[in-house]
Amino acid sequence: MSRTYRLCRALRAGGGGVPVPASPFLRAPTPRGFSTSARRPLMELTGFSEEQLTVRDAVSAVCARFPSTYWQECDQNERDPKEFHAALAKDGWLGIALPEELGGAGLGISEATMMMQTITQSGAGMAGAQAIHANVYATQPLARFGTRSQLEETIPKIITGQWRTCFGVTEPNTGLETLKLRTLATKHPARDTYSISGQKIWITCAQIAAKMILLARTTPLEEVRKPTQGLSLFCIDLDREQPGLDMRKIKKMGARAVDANEVFFDKYEVPANTLIGQENDGFRIILHGMNAERCLLAGEALGLGYAALERAAQYANDRVVFGRPIGQNQAIAHPLADAYMRLEAAKLATYHAARLYDSAASASNTGEESSNTAKSNSGGSSSSSIPLHSVGVACNSAKYLAAEAAFTACERAVLSHGGMGYAMEYDVERYLRECLVPRIAPVSREMVLNYVSEKVLQLPRSY
Ligand SMILES: Cc1cc2nc3c(=O)[nH]c(=O)nc-3n(C[C@H](O)[C@H](O)[C@H](O)COP(=O)(O)OP(=O)(O)OC[C@H]3O[C@@H](n4cnc5c(N)ncnc54)[C@H](O)[C@@H]3O)c2cc1C
Repeated sequence: MSRTYRLCRALRAGGGGVPVPASPFLRAPTPRGFSTSARRPLMELTGFSEEQLTVRDAVSAVCARFPSTYWQECDQNERDPKEFHAALAKDGWLGIALPEELGGAGLGISEATMMMQTITQSGAGMAGAQAIHANVYATQPLARFGTRSQLEETIPKIITGQWRTCFGVTEPNTGLETLKLRTLATKHPARDTYSISGQKIWITCAQIAAKMILLARTTPLEEVRKPTQGLSLFCIDLDREQPGLDMRKIKKMGARAVDANEVFFDKYEVPANTLIGQENDGFRIILHGMNAERCLLAGEALGLGYAALERAAQYANDRVVFGRPIGQNQAIAHPLADAYMRLEAAKLATYHAARLYDSAASASNTGEESSNTAKSNSGGSSSSSIPLHSVGVACNSAKYLAAEAAFTACERAVLSHGGMGYAMEYDVERYLRECLVPRIAPVSREMVLNYVSEKVLQLPRSY
């Protein structure tokens, strides 16, 4: 099935009888009788591919069925946006970057990043993104390294939305030092199982996920030569009826619609065939998804930043104080103009990184592997024309720049609204709470700066 055919199908399905709005990101902010006149979307669209623009239009049409009031209600009641997840699944969007032979659309991270940006930009924010994104990025290592039967069992059910996925990496006692993680999977050859013991933290959607992509040690840290060794990746069932599995929700600042959890394993037994790829090879396998994840998070941050800026610009035009729109004051206008340029610059960095990732991945898929096969802390793909190093630096830089630009835009949007910036009905307070997520996860600002200091500036490693 050709890419174009699948995209057209998705576009038609995405419309679902709902016309694509002329300005899909400008539906909401009309409380208190302010202007409803349509404004031009802020983001410059020049330079995007036809496929990216098609994805944007089609995903916007799905998102348009979920107005801000839906997201406000989900946030306030900590209610999972299952209708939104189902709507995207129904039209095939969860498989955007999965292979066509498994029921996916076979598109790249450039298009998946556009999808995630479109979701946050629609007003769904990080809650909308987090309800979806693990199904896109955590499935990447599975699709690449899973056995045929693993793929046939899981991927179609994830794409159709029957099963949701979560990603289990972070641990409370190791934090960003992923290689020190201690959750242990012990093999019992007689029973053909692994028994898992340990603790994960901050696992998004664990309460509702049927599957977890889990990184665990199969060889204790004390017994390996290098900490990159002895880790394995699993695709396990989260069977709450089975002994040895417990989870506890974490109360959090933003994106409250999606659950974040501590997950406890105590001799939780899983079949041995849940192992993805070779035992003890999990670190190399999981690296495959890391740069992709950084691109998606960068796109999500951008969408949130543009959404906030749209609201701020509209409010600054509409709100009259001292006899003129507040946007006529340069103290309001200039910070917003500056925020726009930061977002545009971060956008270029983000889609440049996604393009590099896709080019390198497709070259490696066609066997055009680089002789430079060393894995960095964020690289999983390389080609002879695009060094692994360049992909890692671009993806980390994009995540950093987009998260910072989003934070600037969201903070200024709140301040431009004055007191109303603090009111839930204007949404910008929700965006500000949520835009801290891409600054922290999946890798913190400080660790990106450490990475660039070491890998680009060639300064001594600081950690
Ligand atoms: C909303 C949310 C959702 C998440 N979802 C998931 C998920 O689904 N799955 C999952 O596995 N994880 C998830 N995470 C976890 C996330 O990836 C981690 O929180 C993140 O990687 C930071 O790790 P940490 O919290 O342990 O920070 P720590 O490692 O404790 O670091 C704390 C602070 O110290 C700084 N620091 C530490 N070492 C250094 C150093 N050497 N130099 C400079 N600064 C340093 C860090 O940058 C950070 O600012 C989520 C987190 C959040 C907040």
